[in-house]
Amino acid sequence: MSLPDRNNPYSFEAFLNQLHGFDFYADDPFLQKVLKYFATEEFVELDRKLREFSPRVSFRWRPLTDTGGNPRKLPYMEHYNAYNRRIDRIVRTAETLQLEKEIFNEGLFSAKVTSWERMAKRYLLHQLGEFGVMCPIACTEGLVALIKQFPEDHTPEVKAILDHCTEGLNNEFGIGAQFVSEIQGGSDIPSNLLEAVPEGNCYRLYGTKFFTSAIHADYAVVTAKVSGSEDVGTFVVPAWMPGDKEKEIRNNFRINRIKWKMGTAEVPTAELEYDGTLCYAVGPTNRGVANAVGIVLTLSRIAVGIASAAGMTRAAREAQLYAEFRDVFGAKIGEWALANKQVRDLVQEAQRCLAGVCKIFALFKELGGRLQPGLASDEPLEMRRRRFLLRELIIIQKLVTAYDSVDILRKAISIFGGHGVIEDFCSLARIFRDAVVNELWEGPRNVLLMQVFRDMGRAAEFYSPDQFLDDLLSGAPQTEIAELGRRALEFAAKPPFQELDKDSRRRAAAWEEFIVDVFRVYQETALREVGPEPIIGSGKMRMPEIWR
Ligand SMILES: Cc1cc2nc3c(=O)[nH]c(=O)nc-3n(C[C@H](O)[C@H](O)[C@H](O)COP(=O)(O)OP(=O)(O)OC[C@H]3O[C@@H](n4cnc5c(N)ncnc54)[C@H](O)[C@@H]3O)c2cc1C
Repeated sequence: MSLPDRNNPYSFEAFLNQLHGFDFYADDPFLQKVLKYFATEEFVELDRKLREFSPRVSFRWRPLTDTGGNPRKLPYMEHYNAYNRRIDRIVRTAETLQLEKEIFNEGLFSAKVTSWERMAKRYLLHQLGEFGVMCPIACTEGLVALIKQFPEDHTPEVKAILDHCTEGLNNEFGIGAQFVSEIQGGSDIPSNLLEAVPEGNCYRLYGTKFFTSAIHADYAVVTAKVSGSEDVGTFVVPAWMPGDKEKEIRNNFRINRIKWKMGTAEVPTAELEYDGTLCYAVGPTNRGVANAVGIVLTLSRIAVGIASAAGMTRAAREAQLYAEFRDVFGAKIGEWALANKQVRDLVQEAQRCLAGVCKIFALFKELGGRLQPGLASDEPLEMRRRRFLLRELIIIQKLVTAYDSVDILRKAISIFGGHGVIEDFCSLARIFRDAVVNELWEGPRNVLLMQVFRDMGRAAEFYSPDQFLDDLLSGAPQTEIAELGRRALEFAAKPPFQELDKDSRRRAAAWEEFIVDVFRVYQETALREVGPEPIIGSGKMRMPEIWR
């Protein structure tokens, strides 16, 4: 009970001190443990680098992320300059530009950065809940990997693009984008209509793309069909030819509109029109679907997994800190059983997600950090199977974690009560909207669910579904493996997606549940391997006993 007080002394300072004093790496014992477990002998050096890097993320860049997505400061476009010249200038906030410069200048794609270092740094960066920089970071990774995969296509122009994006030029790093989706379809890449007309050893593009994020980028990977062909190729397209960027003369394309989006608001996503845009083919022009999906989108799907784990971690951490701070009905939120269980579940799910992400990343690293576009391969059987396992794990991880993170964000927001949806009180509302986008781009859920089914059928001649399942679930309790194996038989007998009758619809939904359950077991196995650890270091914990 309390008496009236016209000078209500309530203050959030104690909570803010905890929240804003939190070092995303040094104060997160679980993160240290999971990296130590999976990065093995690399960990000592990795730990040193992350302790040096993390304060920049936690204390310098975090405050800069709160403006870019503000509806009053969204990116916009100036089509013409004062002299009536078409420039399609993208205007972004000073904070986003500063973030972009400082984060890209970390040289994440340089040969000097190891793959675990890059992955762990990106996990920390994704906790910022910011896509104005992190979307182009993911796209740049795809661009770099695509170019590296095809050294035979390294003309001086393409080599210069690669160097710009990896090692930088005059202390400035090239920024990548990826433009695949057209108005008639995003998932259905073979339906692309953009035309690539050969010109010498280059091409010129004519036509439109309808979803082009990071439109401010220097280069884009673009899918298009060579004139007269039904095959899709992948092309690297400079936004400006050398010397033209400063003059704002674009490489023969117009940006028609910047889309108004629910999430990832700080990254400008546009609709554009190519009209004789010079570009370079990278990879065979009849293998563009396999290369775009198998390399570029697959890397972005790994990034979605990392971003989902990071978003969930931030949500769980902030919900826990708030539950330790705020009194409701005479006790802390976290001291009430319903809320206590809710926060524990958030922490458990965030940790399960991160453990799974790291386990898959360890496999990616073990396979040389190289992706295999398509299923055909001359490699020995065991290696072929490992690559297939990795491919499917990345797809399943994307579809499960992106879906989960929306749910986790919503539940974390609810711990904050009304303050959870106040945009300048809590960043989780922004991260929630971004999570919804993560579910859609790089392959929506249904498309990926069907892809896994199709892939398992196509791979059956070298990898039987039960062997595949056994390998994927290796380390899980035998009873769970046996139960999932039994459930898999239903789909082997009759494919679930062909008919629209009631039983087919039931089996299609059962496939979705099956895939999610398989991945849950995978994540739980990964988490068990790592072992328990809090997500907030003991020095930061105000009431550790309530979480025991
Ligand atoms: C914010 C944002 C930014 C984006 N940025 C880019 C970008 O930079 N570059 C780019 O190339 N693209 C970008 N995209 C596009 C994105 O990749 C596509 O939206 C995505 O691939 C899905 O394509 P679509 O929108 O055409 O949906 P569709 O393919 O039309 O799918 C619509 C629905 O149908 C379902 N569906 C499709 N096929 C099947 C099936 N066989 N069975 C059952 N259900 C099915 C899907 O799961 C989905 O629910 C962006 C999207 C968003 C939201």
